[in-house]
Amino acid sequence: MIYLDYQATTPLAPEVARAMQPWIEEKFANPHSPSRWGNEAEAAIEVARKQVERAMGLKGGSVAFTGSATEALNWALKGSVEKVAAKRTGARNRLITVATEHAAVLDTAEWLAGQGVDLTVLPVKPDGRLDLHLLARELDDCVALIAVMQVNNEIGVTQPITEIADMAHKVGALMLCDAVQAFGRVELCKGPDLVAVSAHKIHGPKGIGALWMRKGSEPASLLHGGAQEQGLRSGTQSPMLCVGFGAAAKLAEERCTRDYDHVQKLWSAAVQALGAGWTINGSTFHRYKGNLNIRREGLDGARLIADLRDIAFSLGSACASGSGRPSHVLRALGLDYRESRSSIRLGFGRYTTQHELVDACKRIAAHAVAQEKLDA
Ligand code: PLP
Repeated sequence: MIYLDYQATTPLAPEVARAMQPWIEEKFANPHSPSRWGNEAEAAIEVARKQVERAMGLKGGSVAFTGSATEALNWALKGSVEKVAAKRTGARNRLITVATEHAAVLDTAEWLAGQGVDLTVLPVKPDGRLDLHLLARELDDCVALIAVMQVNNEIGVTQPITEIADMAHKVGALMLCDAVQAFGRVELCKGPDLVAVSAHKIHGPKGIGALWMRKGSEPASLLHGGAQEQGLRSGTQSPMLCVGFGAAAKLAEERCTRDYDHVQKLWSAAVQALGAGWTINGSTFHRYKGNLNIRREGLDGARLIADLRDIAFSLGSACASGSGRPSHVLRALGLDYRESRSSIRLGFGRYTTQHELVDACKRIAAHAVAQEKLDA
């Protein structure tokens, strides 16, 4: 199996598995209980929290662990709107986001719109970038929150997060950044008040995410109960998952430059191995290069995936691939149904070797040509 689906998830790092092992096999205490074992588990969670905060590199805030980035994004969106409403600044009822966001943002925003929030979903330019003039025209002092992701999960395109955060702050709004695909891969942009990340995209375990919150910008609680996580996110924490997330974050910080350089080389090798006839979806400049989303005239992407069962790659986000619906991100770039269906996403990173990537790209290109001949 050649694994080229790094945006869907990443392999668990061996260092992370080793760090988690004692917390899976021996250390089962509840971190919130007052026993010595409980205290030990609580201390391990606090070490992990510091590791994640340090790797995120943001100042003036702290991290709360969640069950996923999806939960962190739901919490940030719903909790921020609720907090603004509770302050009775009634006029601030607007939420602005972008058409290429992950479903965890777009679906939550739609849900909020159903509850009476005034939602604006901005389009993107054909290269996948947000037009800041368009955003500027939308801004007024009714805006409570602007939600924009740093690196897109389907096409790898980056957004000017620091500029957007500045614009939000000028009208007194908060800025939420979905940094799931950016964290551990590129430096996180400074400026947002709320930042969501996920462990399994940085070679950590699945089932844990985090929300970084600037001091004073904490959203109202989504989960009520035992008042864990400074009373903001109730539910017994999992030391095993927190320790795994912390270890993955520490490793990502240590390997940041090495992983980044490796990805740049892989990108060039992949583009060369694919050969002519492919178009890259989205900006090639404003992009994280571990994501190669490409299309080819007349290609049936789903058939290609079915033909090459020993190469793991996808049509777009794992969610979009499962539904059979054409990707909302590619549609937002202006691609029609046929162009979306002829697009595939190759995702690679730390453990991808150049040899396997080149081998996979050559086979993908050969099968695409064979498909053309068959269909001609
Ligand atoms: N946001 C982006 C950009 C993602 O790629 C993902 C995962 O695919 C999520 C949010 C959701 O993360 P999680 O799997 O931790 O819920």
